[in-house]
Amino acid sequence: MPFRPLDELDDLADIGLSRLLPLRRICSSKACRGTARHGGRHCLACHARAVQRYRDRHAQQLAARRRDADSRRDDRTRAEDSARAKLAMALRRETMKRGMCQICGTADVVGVVEDPQRWRDAVWACREHRQAELERRRDAAAQRAADAKQAAWYDERTQALAAIELLPPAERAQLHALAQQGPVGTQLSPSAPLYVMNLVRVYRARS
Ligand SMILES: [Zn+2]
Ligand SMILES: [Zn+2]
Repeated sequence: MPFRPLDELDDLADIGLSRLLPLRRICSSKACRGTARHGGRHCLACHARAVQRYRDRHAQQLAARRRDADSRRDDRTRAEDSARAKLAMALRRETMKRGMCQICGTADVVGVVEDPQRWRDAVWACREHRQAELERRRDAAAQRAADAKQAAWYDERTQALAAIELLPPAERAQLHALAQQGPVGTQLSPSAPLYVMNLVRVYRARS
């Protein structure tokens, strides 16, 4: 099971929040008459004790898992973990509020951080729709990469065409003659996109 620092912090954040309940439910612990936590079966104190008992009982595994995770984490993961911890802290200190899931509107959400440096721009999504949000981001990143490639090509084209205009006429004519040669012996029209690509390519090959 992968180590999930935020989930753990979420649990702890629940302990610190007092909520007003419309209906008082009794803690399920034997002989405890406390009020059950919102969404839980036990009162705050019993829940906190259960968390502590779990930690004590699994101290070695938890420490080993933490060490393993630490040694595997690279800088990026470290930055992401730190961003998640800051986000969890901001929520606990109530300097930030959780939003609703962007897709279904439920209030039971986790923060999805894109840029660890800008963790305050976290997007909120329920656990189910977090996956959808992550996929949307992967698509957006792929689109940005494609756009950057396109923009780089336009820059290169603009520069090359301007430079070609400055060449002596004979050299320019030579480049244009080469650019005309399309695949399998076809002649390209100067307005064809492939013609311009050829022209830039032969110009760069020459320089
Ligand atoms: Zn209790
Ligand atoms: Zn949702």
